[in-house]
Amino acid sequence: MGIGFGLLCEICGYEKDVMLGSGFSHGDPEGIIESCTKYDQISIKEIFTDDMEIEQEGYSLYQCRKCFSLSNTYHLKLIKDGKEIYKTKRICNICKIRKKRIVANESTWDVYKVPEKYELRCPKCEENPLLIVSNQLMWD
Ligand SMILES: [Zn+2]
Ligand SMILES: [Zn+2]
Repeated sequence: MGIGFGLLCEICGYEKDVMLGSGFSHGDPEGIIESCTKYDQISIKEIFTDDMEIEQEGYSLYQCRKCFSLSNTYHLKLIKDGKEIYKTKRICNICKIRKKRIVANESTWDVYKVPEKYELRCPKCEENPLLIVSNQLMWD
């Protein structure tokens, strides 16, 4: 299950549709891996073996604290013998720093929660906090 909604900047008109969670019925590892970014897919395909477990985090929203770019990407971990072998990357391509994860309440999927002391900034004008505009849609 996941949620979808739209974000809007009232000042410059920037809009983005976002989905969170792991809604698709991901049966086989190949399908799961294809949801990851191209960069992660290349790395995963090099190391993945059938005896690995895939721990799915689903789609998340991340924002870079420096350039404010937003990414709505799929994340997972590869586990083998209880050890973490690989974790999908959360680094900004431009600034090369770790992006901040924007968290939704996973128990109810109805509360959108931005980490304390942090506002979801508009990536275009970099000034205005983004608003959630469309109704939250359930998807699976
Ligand atoms: Zn950045
Ligand atoms: Zn803006």
